[in-house]
Amino acid sequence: MREELDDIREREGLLSGDPADGRHKDRLNFILRTFMKITLPLILVGTILILAFPSKNLERSAPKYFNGSHDFHSTVLLVSYDGFREDYLERMITPHIAEFIRKGIKAEFMMPSFPSVTFPNHYTIVTGLYPESHGIVGNEFYDPILEDNFIYTSPHQSIDSKWWGGEPLWVTAVKQGQKSGVSQWVGSSSVIKGYRPTYHFPYNSSLTIKDKVSQVMSWLDLPLDERPTFIATYARNVDLEGHRSGPYSVNLNNALTYVDNMTHGLLEGLAQRNLTDIVNVIIVSDHGMAQTIPSNIVKLDNSFDVSKIRPIEGFPLAGVRPYNDSDVLDIYLGLKDASYNQPWECFAREEIPERFHFRASLRIAPIFCIPPVGWVLTTNRDFDHHKIPRGTHGYDNLEPEMRGIFFASGPAFKNITREMKDNAVKGFINTEVYNIVAKILDLVPAENNGTTGGILWS
Ligand SMILES: [Zn+2]
Repeated sequence: MREELDDIREREGLLSGDPADGRHKDRLNFILRTFMKITLPLILVGTILILAFPSKNLERSAPKYFNGSHDFHSTVLLVSYDGFREDYLERMITPHIAEFIRKGIKAEFMMPSFPSVTFPNHYTIVTGLYPESHGIVGNEFYDPILEDNFIYTSPHQSIDSKWWGGEPLWVTAVKQGQKSGVSQWVGSSSVIKGYRPTYHFPYNSSLTIKDKVSQVMSWLDLPLDERPTFIATYARNVDLEGHRSGPYSVNLNNALTYVDNMTHGLLEGLAQRNLTDIVNVIIVSDHGMAQTIPSNIVKLDNSFDVSKIRPIEGFPLAGVRPYNDSDVLDIYLGLKDASYNQPWECFAREEIPERFHFRASLRIAPIFCIPPVGWVLTTNRDFDHHKIPRGTHGYDNLEPEMRGIFFASGPAFKNITREMKDNAVKGFINTEVYNIVAKILDLVPAENNGTTGGILWS
């Protein structure tokens, strides 16, 4: 009992600073001072680091590659040549692209998602989601919940985060501690899930090949800690001439030469930096192109009262959206009658064939009419007769003329079994690109519609 009391006194003495026990006091001060000087700053710095950087950054593995002067992490350069139809390669006027494929692989074709137009598909390529899931269901559409129009040619409207669902690759990379550099890709100017690409150039039609190549190279020349591992760039020339002059025109062939030269510029830039076997390059397109058949422009005016619907959505297809829900059934029945024995077909949104994965969004018009390749469905009110394009796309994504490209080269593609001639693997749909890139960059993919593990390796 006495010993216990002494023990308590001793401890009280320590805590109250009893001068009779200076030895203990010095020890306590020493411990406190050490804590303040060393341990506390370490805890504070650690906390700041954890708050400032996502955990993946702290876990980043060592760089995998060395080009003779610098270390490199696994890197992907994704290039889109808008409207590059799969069979354009057979014209044999793109020698640099052909040489690129000889050293790498190509998919027999890359099938677009439906509808086979630019904005939905560019955003599908970087999210792995069907348009009904990422929300960019057309180049132009109306959202009845937001009560607002998405108009792709109006950046100040389309930039708003409210339009952009899913998680594009540049966001996945940044969230997981990597850096991204994106030039002109659909969606890359917007804040998505709270993130932007680390480095970004907005769409600019006056950029030259030299500009685009030097944008990419300037990112690759950054120090390791600042250098993006996901880089994307874009050229619109082939699509532009496909519309303006048609897929079989001299102008289109000149546009093919343009993107072939851009490919050459990018590959030269990589070779000069000794990065040919370090940077994975993937060349894709969003859709193909079909010759428009002017005699097959169908006006739907006789089927219903055009003043009862909003502007037609989804050219050359026809998304029909009545102002009043109470008019949907009548207009639907009128269009069903009009399409009887015709090569085009109209569906209520919930009847659209399942293989299109194009139902699950109110941004899809409640009635959707789909014409055969080369046809146009429209109304006199909505169609400008002076602007009949020579080429169109947007049709059934199973149609061969709507097929795009997937060409790739670099270390990640070395061990893939080429199943067919000319280094080709079987064709696949463009929802696969997201997981292919995520695997190469060692990123945990966000939820998407692609094959787990990336179709090339699974
Ligand atoms: Zn396009």
